[in-house]
Amino acid sequence: MTDLNELQEKINYPKTFDCVQCGYCLPACPTYETMQTETHSPRGRINLVKMLGEGKIGVEDIQEPIEKCLGCRACETACPSNVEYGQILEGAKQVIEEQKKQGKVKQQVEKALFNHMFPSRKWMDAAGHLTWLYQKSGLQTLAQLTDLTKIAPLQLGTFEKVLPKAASPTERKATPSFLPAKGKRLARVGFMSGCIMDSLFHSTNQRTIELLSIAGAEVVLPKNQTCCGALHAHSGKREAARQLAQRNIQAFEEAEVDYVVNNAGGCGAMLAEYDHLFEGEPSWDARAKVFVEKSIDVSALLHQLNYLEFTREIDEVVTYQPSCHMLHVQKVLQEPVELLSKIPGLEYREMNKKDRCCGSAGIYNVVHYEDSMSILNNKMANMKQTQAAAVITTNPGCLLQMKLGIQRAGLQDKVRVVHLVDLLMEAAPQPGKTPLN
Ligand code: SF4
Ligand code: SF4
Repeated sequence: MTDLNELQEKINYPKTFDCVQCGYCLPACPTYETMQTETHSPRGRINLVKMLGEGKIGVEDIQEPIEKCLGCRACETACPSNVEYGQILEGAKQVIEEQKKQGKVKQQVEKALFNHMFPSRKWMDAAGHLTWLYQKSGLQTLAQLTDLTKIAPLQLGTFEKVLPKAASPTERKATPSFLPAKGKRLARVGFMSGCIMDSLFHSTNQRTIELLSIAGAEVVLPKNQTCCGALHAHSGKREAARQLAQRNIQAFEEAEVDYVVNNAGGCGAMLAEYDHLFEGEPSWDARAKVFVEKSIDVSALLHQLNYLEFTREIDEVVTYQPSCHMLHVQKVLQEPVELLSKIPGLEYREMNKKDRCCGSAGIYNVVHYEDSMSILNNKMANMKQTQAAAVITTNPGCLLQMKLGIQRAGLQDKVRVVHLVDLLMEAAPQPGKTPLN
């Protein structure tokens, strides 16, 4: 096989021909909206990848436009020719990743995060404990008062301010591995805890388990589950993503569940496409397809079970910021809004361009801070028009990004940002045990 053939295989070159260059995707693309250049549009990026596959340009020529893509996949929803942009993007990221000559320090940091930290429950627990200690000990207040957070690299100090309140080690230890259905048993579900969700949004995870149980689900938390691999796949580390997927498929098979439930749009999208990782490997491909069939977002399952009744009133105007991956990959559109409409007293106001990315996109807001803030500014202009007192989200990255937007707009005393599950729990028949963030 020649080098060019190998390259074409990696970048899914044949799929680039599905694009007929019509441009219908351009108005849906947030980076085209803010950057206004063809190379930062879906059509332009596909063209660049095609030219790379034909040997007309080098990997270095596609690097910047591809890295500035949010991976939100709004272009896929807009495309009348069903171009599989996500697969073209991941192939391009893989070849960029292979060619990158990174500094030694960056390589080591990435290796530590991707190979050791995210896949390890022990390490993610430790990260959660450290965050709790940092907040509880007064170190966070001190760091903020003395502007110490400003010296953190990559604008991490900015995001530190919007971190949710971390769960204590005692609260973490109390996580059950099994919870029976309260009332009628309608299904047996496996809960995907996630790595970031479990370490930084542990209380939301706890409430998800509780809510599922109230909604008629028997909930199991397979102990051998691990990180979904989304961050790995989206940064071109396909082999690492494959290995994590194999561990999860195995763990949930052993748990013998009807559904694999997640509460984070980004993780859910990864789980919903596990079969893409095993094309050409018949045994794993078949197992991955079964897993994909069972994989579902918590809001879609609650809607499907249709058993949960909201008994407590919430007198508040809210708006909803959907996670791109939940919308454009999992195709969960109306379920969250329909659940919100069942809460007594709640007024839902739709945000203009609500299906536009908020600019969070994994770690995009950290590595491309300025571009991400331009996208966030557009989102905030639409959010403010709703005059809502709460923004509901379904993904940890979106939640932090919207919190940041609200803080930047000086609205932190007027508007809260809440995960959908946390809000539903406020209205559900049983009270939540922990205070909301
Ligand atoms: S990706 Fe789809 S919508 Fe965009 S230019 Fe190509 S064919 Fe048209
Ligand atoms: S994934 Fe999002 S940012 Fe990237 S090209 Fe498609 S619409 Fe634009």
